[in-house]
Amino acid sequence: MAAVDYITNKFICNKKDDVMNNNLDFKKYFPIFSTNNVVFLDSAASSQKPATVIEAELGCYKNQYTNIHRGTYKLALAATTAYENTRIAVQKFINASSAQEIIFTKGATESINLVAYTYGENFINSDDEIVVTICEHHSNLIPWQRVAKKRGAKLKVCYLDENQDFSLNEFQSLLTDKTKLVCITHLANGLGLEFPIKEIIKLTQRDTTAKILIDGAQIVAHKKVDMQDLGCDFFVFSAHKVYGPSGVGVLYAKEELLKIMPPFLTGGEMVKEVSVTETIFNDLPYKFEAGTPNIAGVIAFKAALEFVSGVGLDKISAHEEILIKKLEDELQVIPGLKILGAKDKHQSLLCFVLENISPYDLATFLDNQGVAIRVGHHCAQPLINYLGYESSSRISLGCYNTEEDISKVVSAIRLAQKFFN
Ligand code: PMP
Repeated sequence: MAAVDYITNKFICNKKDDVMNNNLDFKKYFPIFSTNNVVFLDSAASSQKPATVIEAELGCYKNQYTNIHRGTYKLALAATTAYENTRIAVQKFINASSAQEIIFTKGATESINLVAYTYGENFINSDDEIVVTICEHHSNLIPWQRVAKKRGAKLKVCYLDENQDFSLNEFQSLLTDKTKLVCITHLANGLGLEFPIKEIIKLTQRDTTAKILIDGAQIVAHKKVDMQDLGCDFFVFSAHKVYGPSGVGVLYAKEELLKIMPPFLTGGEMVKEVSVTETIFNDLPYKFEAGTPNIAGVIAFKAALEFVSGVGLDKISAHEEILIKKLEDELQVIPGLKILGAKDKHQSLLCFVLENISPYDLATFLDNQGVAIRVGHHCAQPLINYLGYESSSRISLGCYNTEEDISKVVSAIRLAQKFFN
């Protein structure tokens, strides 16, 4: 712990200098940029890790590792405390009202599946309606397709308007007294638009009795979210997209719902008492955390949250807004390049297609220029097909990206056009 605290404090001191000098080049905190000369523009898939996170995970294995919630010796108690401290850090990060509302999972995908298998399969009934949007990541669509099929419910899809923007009117028109679940992304990973989540929640709560699940996977590294302010029922995200380790995810759910939901996985540690035929399940949040979790990952996740809070989400947001605007301005004047999604509304990521050049050819060309972007359907195949394509190119930002990175990718795209045309 001491090593982690030391590193974190050192980081905060450096950060203050940076902010005072208005120097927002955070690459130096990410070791990968000292070992790889790459313009990394794929943070929406997974972000890079600051040294503090790497050291925290290493430090756990070196100094502190045992299983958690089991041993009674000092080392085990320290590991348990560190693990539970991350839960408190997550609670503060998203302003949940209690740490019991924070469930650790493997990632956003598992968090959504947990809700689908427990809440969905027990509380969604025949003829109920589940509303999603056409922009959902497969993780926030397939679980609901399954629930709808299994329970005889109807899956309703909110499409985009003629400007490829989210339409609150279209969304409202889908709400009925049969709507029992609204599952919606906060920031669409295949489009880069932030949805008006507060208005969506307000409308849903005004017009229906539906529960609301927000897929926050793409928002948490870029903007502050506040569970008490939003008032949603479920909120999910993955640590690896917010500078933390992979294999760690969060499900936030209102306590009253977690209490009535049956467990997802069963096994060790999610129980109070077990006889040969019966089990009394554990209290929250442990009822939903069966088996040995990613202990070191969860412990290191706290360092990621400290990094983000240390820099300040407002600063990250402002920095990325400048970059995405520069990117959008410079891309939209390139002939034959079409940006997907409503104009001038992108946040932290942007998808586009180029006339006569396949995204895969473009990505290979860019890679040879030292620029890493993502191409494909971005696990949002219904969206890309609805927009009339099979795949697109995606540029996504982290706090470490710079104006120079944007200039480099734009020049590389222009060069690709000359090369292929
Ligand atoms: N939702 C969104 C919007 C995403 O972008 C992703 C990851 N690309 C997920 C869910 C799934 O996250 P994970 O793979 O970490 O479970």
